[in-house]
Amino acid sequence: MTGMDRSDPGPRVAAHQREGRGVTRVGYPIGVRRARVVRREAVTPRMLRLTLAGDELADFVTHAADDHVKIVFPLPDGTRNDPVPDDHDELDWPRPHTPTRKYTVRRYDAGARELDLDFVVHEGGLAAEWAAAVEVGVATGEEAVVAGPPGAKAFAHTYGHYVLAVDVTALPAVARWLDELGAWASTGVTAQVLVDHDHADETSYPLAVRPGVDVRWLSRTGGSRLAEETAALPLPDDPREVFVFAAGEAGDIKPLRRWAAEKGYDALVTGYWKRGVAGHEE
Ligand SMILES: Cc1cc2nc3c(=O)[nH]c(=O)nc-3n(C[C@H](O)[C@H](O)[C@H](O)COP(=O)(O)OP(=O)(O)OC[C@H]3O[C@@H](n4cnc5c(N)ncnc54)[C@H](O)[C@@H]3O)c2cc1C
Repeated sequence: MTGMDRSDPGPRVAAHQREGRGVTRVGYPIGVRRARVVRREAVTPRMLRLTLAGDELADFVTHAADDHVKIVFPLPDGTRNDPVPDDHDELDWPRPHTPTRKYTVRRYDAGARELDLDFVVHEGGLAAEWAAAVEVGVATGEEAVVAGPPGAKAFAHTYGHYVLAVDVTALPAVARWLDELGAWASTGVTAQVLVDHDHADETSYPLAVRPGVDVRWLSRTGGSRLAEETAALPLPDDPREVFVFAAGEAGDIKPLRRWAAEKGYDALVTGYWKRGVAGHEE
C-alpha cells in the first residue's frame, strides 16, 4: 500500500462499509510492534490461538474483518533484521529480507492491549511450527514482532447477500465478520459460508450463529470442491445484490475470481497460501 493516505482510517472504513460499493483500500498508520506471547489455546485440535500482549499494542489499528499483520521472524542465523518505518510513512525492509507470514487479526482488545491470532496447524511451516512451540507466559513469553496491518481492503455492508467461500485459513476472518454482522446487518441480510477443510476436527472452530447465515463444511479429501459448490449456489437474480469474499489455497479459489467477474458480482478474492510454496505472496 505505497503512497496511501493513512490518515483517519476508522471513519473512512466505516463510511465505505455503510455507503460504499465493492472494495476500497484504506491505509492505516504504519507500525511495527513488539509484544509478548502470553497465551496459547487450542481453538480446535488443528487451530492454535496465540494471544500477544504489550504496551506497544496500545495504538494498534484494525477496522476490517480480514485485516492482517505480518509476523516478522528472525533470519535463519537467528539475527533480527526487522523493518523500520521510513520518512514517507512506509516500511523499509532491510536486506537480506527477513521471513514474514501473514495472519488475520482475530481479536484486538485496546483496553487489555491484546491481540489474538489463529494458526492452522500444518506440517513444515515456519509460522505453524513457531506457534506450536513458542514459549508462552505473561512474564516468560517470547517477544513477537508484528508489522501492520498495512490497511483495510474494506468491503461494503450494502449488499443483500454475501457469499464467503474459504478454507480454514480464512476462518478467523469469517468469524470476525460474523461477530461484527450483528452490529451492522439490517434484517434480511443473508449469507452462505462454504468452508474447505482437510480434517473433521476443523469443523469445531467456533462461529457465531446469525439468522439468515448458512454455514457448510466441505471436505477437501480427494480435492477441493469449493469453486464448483460455490458456483452451484442458488443466488439472487440481480448481481448487484451479491458480494463474494473468497480466500484460501490459491489454486482452489482461482476459478472463483473468474466466476464472480462473469456473473457481475463484486468480490474480494485472495490466495492466502499456495500448495508447495513457503511464504506465498500474492
Ligand atoms: C491476508 C492473509 C491472512 C491470513 N490469515 C491467516 C490466519 O488467520 N490463519 C492461518 O492459519 N493462515 C492465514 N493465512 C495463511 C498463511 O499466511 C499461510 O498459510 C502461510 O503460508 C503459513 O505459513 P507457514 O510458515 O506456516 O508455512 P510456509 O512456510 O509458508 O509453507 C510451508 C509449506 O506448508 C504449506 N502450507 C502453508 N500454509 C498451509 C496450510 N494452511 N495448510 C497446509 N499447508 C500449508 C505450503 O504450501 C508449503 O508447502 C493468511 C494469509 C493471508 C494472505
